[in-house]
Amino acid sequence: MKVFVAVDMEGIAGVVDSSQTSPNGVDYPHARKWMADEANAAVRGAFKAGPTEVVVSDSHGGNGCRNILAHDLDRRATLLTGSPKSLDDPHGLSADFGALILLGMHSRNKSLGVISHTVHGLVVDEIRINGTPFGEVGFISALAGHYGVPTVMVAGDDRTADEAKDAMPWVKTVVVKWALSRNAARTLPPEVAADRIEQAAELAVQGVEDSDRLVVEVPVTLEMDFMNAGCADAAAKVPGVERVSGRTVRFVSEDFATASRTMSVVIGQGWAVTRAWLGR
Ligand SMILES: [Zn+2]
Repeated sequence: MKVFVAVDMEGIAGVVDSSQTSPNGVDYPHARKWMADEANAAVRGAFKAGPTEVVVSDSHGGNGCRNILAHDLDRRATLLTGSPKSLDDPHGLSADFGALILLGMHSRNKSLGVISHTVHGLVVDEIRINGTPFGEVGFISALAGHYGVPTVMVAGDDRTADEAKDAMPWVKTVVVKWALSRNAARTLPPEVAADRIEQAAELAVQGVEDSDRLVVEVPVTLEMDFMNAGCADAAAKVPGVERVSGRTVRFVSEDFATASRTMSVVIGQGWAVTRAWLGR
């Protein structure tokens, strides 16, 4: 069996601020090392459960998904680095994997989690799939579900663990920090977080038969509230996307992979508008 490990950055132990998650931030070099350490802990744990292959995907967009330095990775794993990785899935997951582990995850926008946001913090206010608000744990897991891959484990702050359990009661969670506010937490030291991730990854991969897939009903109706109406002006130009109200658009897709692809185009439209305002 092949195991896929997707690693975001906001939910890594010790990380609470953009000075750690942005490449120009003073603490970024430390945070990218902690990110690699958590990934390696999951690789060690997964291999104890006996898979044939473990692939790690750098899933933090902050530095173009090039945050984990390849020389920091466990020799037995391979690394998906850079962006975009595939047309349907920004993380590069496909149907030939047997289990998905999510590390460094954060809760969705408007929740009280550490650096909570939904895909793009300057662009997206809320995304609803078939009427239910979704965060990134849900997106990646639903795409995995589309491919037939079960999500077996999620690590991040306490709010992210709650969000994951709500959507996937079977999933094993590791809490590496407890949110005090959006930019403050009580955190485990990275070494302790890594120990817990290693143990949980072994048990999660061993117990893959008891895990389920997150399956979203088709056709998929996706509604997106942008931060402002200008983003929706631009998004509504995408064929098949309907303007619902001032800052909300909606589209319907035949399956989750297609929804994921359209979602990235729609968010890209919103980001182009926001970026122009910011003069970036
Ligand atoms: Zn991120």
